Order: sequence, then structure tokens, then C-alpha cells
Amino acid sequence: MSFSTWQKGKGKLGHLDLEGALTARDRVGIQDFVLLDAHNSETAFLDNLKKRFSEDLIYTYIGTLLISVNPYKELDIYNKKHMDLYMGVNFYELPPHIYALADNAYHTMLTEGNNHFILISGESGAGKTEASKKILQYYAVSCPSSALLDTVRDRMLMSNPVLEAFGNAKTLKNDNSSRFGKYMDIQFDRQGDAVGGHILSYLLEKSRVVHQNHGERNFHIFYQLVEGGEEDLLRQLGLERDTQHYNYLVGGECANVSSINDKNDWKTVKNALSVIHFDESDIEHLFGVIASVLHLGNVHFDGDTKGYAVLNSNAELRWVSKVLMLSNSDLGFQVMCPFMVDHAVYVRDALAKAIYGRTFTWLVNRINESLENQDSTRKTVIGLLDIYGFEVFYVNSFEQFCINYCNEKLQQLFIQLTLKAEQEEYEAEGIEWEPVQFFNNKIICDLVEEKYRGIISVLDEECLRPGDATDLTFLEKLEEKMGNHPHFVTHKLADKKTRKTLDRGDFRLLHYAGEVTYCVVGFIDKNNDLLYRHIKEVSGLKLRDYAEVATQFKNSLLELTEILMAKEAWYVRCLKSNDNKQSGKFDDVLVRHQVKYLGLIEHLRVRRAGFAYRRRYEEFLKRYKPLCPDTWPHWRGVAADGVETLVKHLGYQPDEYKMGRTKIFIRYARTLFATEDAFEICK
Ligand code: ADP
Ligand code: MG
Repeated sequence: MSFSTWQKGKGKLGHLDLEGALTARDRVGIQDFVLLDAHNSETAFLDNLKKRFSEDLIYTYIGTLLISVNPYKELDIYNKKHMDLYMGVNFYELPPHIYALADNAYHTMLTEGNNHFILISGESGAGKTEASKKILQYYAVSCPSSALLDTVRDRMLMSNPVLEAFGNAKTLKNDNSSRFGKYMDIQFDRQGDAVGGHILSYLLEKSRVVHQNHGERNFHIFYQLVEGGEEDLLRQLGLERDTQHYNYLVGGECANVSSINDKNDWKTVKNALSVIHFDESDIEHLFGVIASVLHLGNVHFDGDTKGYAVLNSNAELRWVSKVLMLSNSDLGFQVMCPFMVDHAVYVRDALAKAIYGRTFTWLVNRINESLENQDSTRKTVIGLLDIYGFEVFYVNSFEQFCINYCNEKLQQLFIQLTLKAEQEEYEAEGIEWEPVQFFNNKIICDLVEEKYRGIISVLDEECLRPGDATDLTFLEKLEEKMGNHPHFVTHKLADKKTRKTLDRGDFRLLHYAGEVTYCVVGFIDKNNDLLYRHIKEVSGLKLRDYAEVATQFKNSLLELTEILMAKEAWYVRCLKSNDNKQSGKFDDVLVRHQVKYLGLIEHLRVRRAGFAYRRRYEEFLKRYKPLCPDTWPHWRGVAADGVETLVKHLGYQPDEYKMGRTKIFIRYARTLFATEDAFEICK
């Protein structure tokens, strides 16, 4: 945290009431792990989280990193009163809160004029999307406002229900699971008004459109349309009000979910679309496309005597053409090719996925247009990253491989920006300290993404190899190339590395967050998106710079990393309290596992081993020189000597601070608070 962050907004609740904090400690635990007595012990760490959780205190800090434990129940801490309370207050004055973090990022941005991002991480269902919505709401409600900007603000807020309807779905882990990654820049002008926004979306899980695992659903929007759509609209689109009628909606056998009200959500989405400025014809097109996917799913092929696909009824296809506003022949041509039945089904599904994927991209573009800020004055941004969390299912496929790779990259970014950066700064400043051992997951990132040698390269190679490449030949290549890698296991190697056996079609990666076994079936196909390619060609779209899916994803993650590296980072680490979405239940084993793999204890160790605050000598001296007769009004020597004189005069003990090459390092927050209090009085 930067100096300006703690320095501003003093006095709302007076200075930190340490004694009060100490007596309340037994009941509510410690609100910042840095102050925890027991040294870095995992058990003490978990006890503290649990104690707080049982008091509905779901937030705890490690310095400026915010830990959040999903309560699975509505807490009365997200109202306007709370927003007002947290505005302009420094971290230690109030109980930890997502608003405090949002507010500190915002004020630091304003005072320092730089860009920030908030990385929200945690596994699926841990509360990332909820956290990102709360931050956005905080800015929307708390930042200064004008009538004109209210529109932008409303649109920003309303982009959420729209993107969630089209990009979220019920999975086994989360009834509202984000099936795409999202990075949103909120742009602020110099006065701190939110004036615009921009969204980047990552790898939508298109396969869900045509297939859902048991207990899961398709994207929300399909059910919302069928359940909530107005009579007229359904008639126009040729849809029946019955989710069971549609092949693409029955795969998971759970169209109805108690926590989801599709009818109400339909109204919310329609309203949101109008706020974002979709007109009637946009909306008509949009739902025409959604309906076309449902109709496509019901296109049924019979086999003729040779096994070739025949269409016995044209009704569904006619509806597809009608709602897509195509002439019948456009689509007819596609499907009349002499395909075997399973191949025809395959093409049909590929088309459905492609249509849905493109619609999603179009939707994001339209939202971006509506959030675009026209004026060209300098703006600073706060980026919110809410990207799919680490995922382990019973069967894990290409999608999980991409999602978990993405989480490896984000963990690597976290390590680079915090642990490594912190240690490097001490070294650069010549500050003596005990280096902290941490697991660096770079080795796993390399295993996946390294040029020519990584899993993605091997996959691409197989995809492009003419001839008989299959998922199994891909697996064999992996065995050849990665066999010796400590984080890679297949059935041949299982006995040597782990005791657990593996199926012949599986490979296992030892991710930083745990082991995941991937089933190779479909890897080649999904990575190729070959049929998608074929359809693109038929439809006359050019295929310039075509890259395989995983490589595209890898490239977009590289770009994202660059975007983030240029900004100041804030972290929210979301933890899942239990696997049953149950309120008030704290599953020790599950939480302990997350605490471990998220590297929270290491982070705490670095924080503790290190120094809570640091400031360049010049700046420190400039602010506090009135506190010492020798430095006031001018210090004539080198700044470092002035600072040394100043802090000695203030009675800093030798263990409380260290002098680096360019900065003073202060170990405890309280030391600095005392200095700041003295400054207030002297002013
Ligand atoms: P993720 O995006 O990490 O997969 P979500 O943010 O969608 O997870 O959260 C999953 C569910 O957990 C939400 O639908 C909600 O029911 C519950 N939840 C998450 N965060 C909170 C919170 N702060 N307060 C109450 N419930 C929450
Ligand atoms: Mg989410």
C-alpha cells in the first residue's frame, strides 16, 4: 500500500483504537493477519478465519490483501450506509471490507494519478463475481456524479446482468458460474467521476451450448427466454414454453434450480438491455439468434440405407432460417452435404456453438460501444479482473485445461508482483532480511505454454499434422516429450510418480492448486475448431491469422498480463467455505487446502518478515520535517541523514525501521500511525 493511502482520510473514527481491538480480539479474531501473535502457523491462521467467519466477519486482511470467505447468505453490510462509512477511511479504522479495498485503490489512483487493477481470485464458487459486482456498485454509488455520467454508470452496472445471462450457467460448483473470463476497465476523470468503461472477455465455454454434464445447465439466457419470454415473442420465434422440448436444454436434467428464478431474470435482462441502449431491432435479432440455436438442437437426422444423414422434417430448419432471417437455401446447402449421421449431428452442433460464440462477442462489443467515453482528456483506470477459478470436475476436458492454465498464469503474476517483487526490492535496497521460501509455479506455466516444448505446442502440432492425428496420438506425443516432467503424469508413469492409477486416455497435471486428471477425448477437435473453420469458409469469412484455440487463449493471456503489469495491483482472495453452498458451514479441510495453494501463509510470512511501509527519503522528510527542530524548516544535508535524525528524534527503536539505499522501511503500522498523529497535532 502506498503512503498516501493510509495518510488520507484520517480522523473519521479517530486514531486506531489498539486497546479496544485487543479486547475484542478473542471474540472476533484478528482483522489483519500481520498482527496475529502465533507466528505464521497454519493452524492459527485457520482458527482466526474460522472465528471471524462464525461471527459473520467474512473479510480479513493480510496487509492490503483482502481475504473473503463465502458466507452463502446475505449479509447486511453492502448497503448505502456501509458505503458512506468506508469512504475515505484508511484500512485500519474499520473492520475489513471489500469497500475499504475499493476505496483505497480509488483514492490512491486519484492522489498518484496512476492506473490500478484489482485481481479477484479463488476457485469456482468462492465469490469472485459477487466481489467484482460489489466493487462496481461501490464506485457507481460513491463516486461523484452528474446527470450525464449517471447514464454511463447505469450502463456499467447493467452490463452485469446481461453478460451473466449469456455467459453464466449452473455448474456443479456454482449455480451462477461464469463460463467466460472478464476484465473490465473503469475509467475515471481527474475529478474522480466514473466516465466510461471497457470490457475484455476471455474464452467462452461454447461446448456448453450443445452439451451439459449431469446436474448442470446451458447458459441462463435460454431458460430465461423460454420461461419468461412474452407470448408474442415466443410465437414469433416459433418457440414453445417448455424447456423440456429442447434437446440442448435437457442434457443436464436440471432445467429448474431452486436458487434461480428465470422468469424474473428475464425481466431484469430485458430492462438491462434497454438501459444499455439496445433498440427493438437489436433485441429482435439477439433473441432470434438464441432461438435459432434451440431450433438447431432439435434438427433430427435419420440414416438412409448407407448410413448417410437424411432430414425427414424441414420444420426446424425452416425456423432456424426464419429467425436468423436467412433464405432457406443458405443453411440447406450446409446440411445437405452427404454426411454420415453422426457427422451431420456434429456439424449441426458446431454451427450452434459458432453462432452462440459469435453472438457473445457481438454482445460484448455492443456493450463496449455503449460504455465508450467520447472525450479525450486524460483518464486513469481501475481494472477489475474476474476470471474463472480453478476447476476440478469428475471428468475434466479441454475447457478445464484452459481454465486451470489461466489460473496458473494469474498465480504466477501474483508471485511476480508480490513475493518476488518484495524480495527483490529488499535486495535492491540492501535491506537485510530472511528470504522466504515459496513454491514458484513457473515450472507448471512452462510445462503448458513453452514454445515448441509445452503441452499447447504439442497439441497444435498434432492438430496441424496431416493424416491420422487423434486424441490418443496427441497423448502419446505428450508422453514422449513430457514424460520426465515432475508435474506431468500418464498411465504409463503413474506408478512411478504417484500411487494413483490413471486411465489410458488421461493425463494428470500437478497444478499449484492440486492434481487434475484430464481426459484427452475432444482435445484435438476443440483446439482445432475445424468445423467452425469450415463453416467460416463456406460463409465467406476470411481466415487470416488463424491460430488454434489454445494458442489464441495463451496469446490473450499474455496480453492481459502485460495490461496488468503496467498497473498497481490490489488483491482479493476468495475462499470457498464448503462444497455444498451451505450457509454458515466452515469446512476446515477445504479452507486449509485453499489457504495453502493460494500461498496465503507465504504471503503473510513475506509481509511479516518485511516492513509494512516504505517511503522514499525525500518524501518522508518533506512531510515530517516539522516534527524535529534539526530538520525544520530546512535540512541541508542528504535526505537519508535527515530522515535518520528525524526518526531518532521521534524515538523510533532500532527494530522498528531500516534504512535502505533510497527508502526508509518501517516495520509496523503503529509506528507510522504514531508519527502521523504527532504530525496532525503539530499542524
Ligand atoms: P465465483 O465467481 O467465484 O465462481 P460467485 O461470485 O458466483 O462465485 O459466488 C457463488 C455464490 O456464492 C453466489 O451466487 C452467492 O450465492 C454466494 N456468495 C458469494 N459471495 C457472497 C457474499 N459476499 N455474500 C453472500 N453470498 C455470497
Ligand atoms: Mg464467477
